[in-house]
Amino acid sequence: MSAPRTPAAEELRGAGLRVTAARVALLETVRDGDHLDVETIASGVRDRVGHVSLQAVYEALHALTAAGLVRRIEPAGSPARFEGRVGDNHHHVVCRSCGVVADVDCAAGEAPCLTASDDHGFSIDEAEVIYWGLCPACSTASSS
Ligand SMILES: [Zn+2]
Ligand SMILES: [Zn+2]
Repeated sequence: MSAPRTPAAEELRGAGLRVTAARVALLETVRDGDHLDVETIASGVRDRVGHVSLQAVYEALHALTAAGLVRRIEPAGSPARFEGRVGDNHHHVVCRSCGVVADVDCAAGEAPCLTASDDHGFSIDEAEVIYWGLCPACSTASSS
């Protein structure tokens, strides 16, 4: 199978990663989606390139996350989600009821956007912020 030449393939190459059809499909799936979990990503990859094992999807996600092409978020109590919006310090708002995730732009623009009241001598480079609440659909449902 010859490696595809698409923008996603070029980015994989640029990040020093081996380019495979499955990895290209994975990157495209994550970017087209909205904070997808692994199962959803796997089915998106399969829609594009045919059967790919879940293990291969996990390995590719790990490689692409390590290379900074995708970002992994893991709200407490919910499975890991992946997104293609990288390189900024945006945060997430998560619905306590249904688990839907939305992006929230960083108020300060750069990490760490919160100043620790006591840094304990650490050189702090990131504050992980997750806002929790009820999404519009769930708050409508719970008030009726
Ligand atoms: Zn909800
Ligand atoms: Zn996001």
